[in-house]
Amino acid sequence: MANKDAKHENGKFVIVPLEERFWKKVNKNGPIPSHVPELGQCWLWTGYLDIDGYGRIVIAGANGPEIRAHACALLIENGVRPKLQVLHKCDNPSCVRYDHLFEGTQKQNIADMLSKKRIDRKGVKGHNAKLNDEKIRTIRLMSKSMKEGGYGR
Ligand SMILES: [Zn+2]
Repeated sequence: MANKDAKHENGKFVIVPLEERFWKKVNKNGPIPSHVPELGQCWLWTGYLDIDGYGRIVIAGANGPEIRAHACALLIENGVRPKLQVLHKCDNPSCVRYDHLFEGTQKQNIADMLSKKRIDRKGVKGHNAKLNDEKIRTIRLMSKSMKEGGYGR
């Protein structure tokens, strides 16, 4: 059986530790996230990315489970597999920098996405504000005409 996690060392095969395999695929010269520049540069996963842009890594031997690379960053740092979802403060799915990550629930994940969308979409916010003004004007007109006896009498 071919073992992609084994390497030849001093004439024998040895298993490459997860940490070593992990760091081989990390590029620490990633971009600085524009909305949180204080976090510093992202560390980009240069290995396999899934359809959502998240890195993937096999964590235990050639036939072991495959997890997302950013979850693996927490596994290496904390020594345990994260129980919750691992989320990005930098919004960069391929980033595996430990201090750009935090564990959260699906609920927190959605709340986080929504709060970021609100900041990003200034145009949409302006558009909504205009619609709301129109709605308020309509409501005012309706209540005015109600007072004047235009409705229901
Ligand atoms: Zn990052």
